[in-house]
Formats: sequence, structure tokens, C-alpha cells
Amino acid sequence: MLRIGYHVSISGSMDLALDRAREIGCTCVQVFPSNPRSWSAREMQEGEAERFRAKQKAYNISPVFVHMPYLPNLASPKEDVYRKSIAAMIEALERCNALGAKYLIVHLGSHLGSGVEAGRERVSAAINEVEKHMGNATILLENEAGQRNSVGSKLDELTDIYNRIEHKHVGFCLDTCHVFAAGYDIRKEEVAREVVETLGIDRIGCIHLNDAKHPLGSGLDRHADIGFGRIGKKGFEEFFSLPGLREKPMILETPLVETPKDAAGELSMVRKMLNYA
Ligand code: MN
Ligand code: MN
Ligand code: ZN
Repeated sequence: MLRIGYHVSISGSMDLALDRAREIGCTCVQVFPSNPRSWSAREMQEGEAERFRAKQKAYNISPVFVHMPYLPNLASPKEDVYRKSIAAMIEALERCNALGAKYLIVHLGSHLGSGVEAGRERVSAAINEVEKHMGNATILLENEAGQRNSVGSKLDELTDIYNRIEHKHVGFCLDTCHVFAAGYDIRKEEVAREVVETLGIDRIGCIHLNDAKHPLGSGLDRHADIGFGRIGKKGFEEFFSLPGLREKPMILETPLVETPKDAAGELSMVRKMLNYA
């Protein structure tokens, strides 16, 4: 069975995200743990987590991916920002466990000019530090598009950080737009194979299924609708011909609120593209 869904809004109450997801035909889902533009998480209302768990079960939407908010930077050389970022990751992990969400997706952040090695060291130290807050959650490290000073756009960088993490509640989230923007032409079989073999098929917990607005190697994190970007439908078909990939849960991260679209129609197009329908 194909597990596919969108990043949906948690506006009003966390559990409403599941109603929004069900309405458009999602079989898995991604949410923020709280307002993505604020440092501190709103407390959940009484019964909110219970409603979330009950609906998740009733609607059979699984897995639930929680995506870290935008402000934390786990590679920041500024001590106060770094400490706040670790605290935010702990809060997000606690929210995962309250909701029964299996995965927390994290960006590796920006070293802000302090250097790649320093950035890698801070990110892996941060993830080592939160071990006792993991509960049943697994952290997925997301590859970046390669914006200036970003950590984790190159695959060897991701595996290097992975290897420095001492606990094994960790894997990868592979974003197709980001990997293409970082210069890996996944429309070509040999490159796609290199990407998957470097990360390890069993360590990939999620695919962020986004097309890319800009050309190969642009370094720009601008998502396009599937089939309407530079990767294109043919490019995705080539990519997903690799064994094991089309069985991974997939999340589309094109906005549903700012740009309303026929989400259910897009999901059935992707199902066809992946030979599920
Ligand atoms: Mn992301
Ligand atoms: Mn992504
Ligand atoms: Zn992105």
C-alpha cells in the first residue's frame, strides 16, 4: 500500500490536521509541532493529544511525521541560539511522543560562516544530547538544498553526521527537490543509485516528494508541483524505478493554504505515476 500525504495545517487544534488530511485522501501526514514561526510551543488543550491519537487510528493515517519549526538552528555558532534550538528539539520530541508520532524531521541548519566542520560537530552533539528525550520517536535528518552556509546538502556530510550520532534512533528524510538543487541529477539512474546507496535504503524513513522550480545544482529551496518542475514526471519515474523507493512513505510539501489546489487530484496523479493505480 502506498503511504502518501501532504504537510497539513494544525490550525485550531493538532487533531484537525488529521481531518484535513483525510479529506484529501492522505494515508500518511506531516505536521509542525506548533507555530513554525515562534520559539515556544503552545500548550496543548485538554484532550487534544487523545483526540489526535484516536483519529490517527480511526482514519488509518500512518506514519505521522512531525517537522521541526523554522527558527531553531542546530548548527548555530551563537550559544544562546544553539541552546534554544536544542530546547525546541526536546519540546518537539515530547510532542511526538504525546501524539504517538513516530518521526521527527530535522534540518541540520546553517553554520553561519563558522565552517562546515564546526557545524557538523554542533549538529551531531545536539542530537546526541537529546537521547533521553527520544521516547519512541526517531529523528530523520533532512538533506538541504545547498543554500549558503547550510549543513547537510552533500550526501557524505549527512552520513558523516549520522556516524557521529551515538544512539541509533536516527535515519534520513530524502527531499527530492533539495537533492536536485544540491547538484544530484536523480533523473539519471546511476546518480539516483548513488544517492540511495550512500544514504542506505533502510535508513530512509521518509521521502519529501517535491519537484524543483530551479535547474540542477541551483542551491535554491523552491518547490514545484510534481511533474511541473525541473525533475519532471519522467525524471521521477526514472528515480522510482530503483528498488525499495516507491515503498517509502512520501510527503508532498507544496502549500495547500497559500495556493489552494486540487490536492486529491494531485495525489491520484502521483499514484498513477508510481504504478499504484
Ligand atoms: Mn524540511
Ligand atoms: Mn523537505
Ligand atoms: Zn524545501
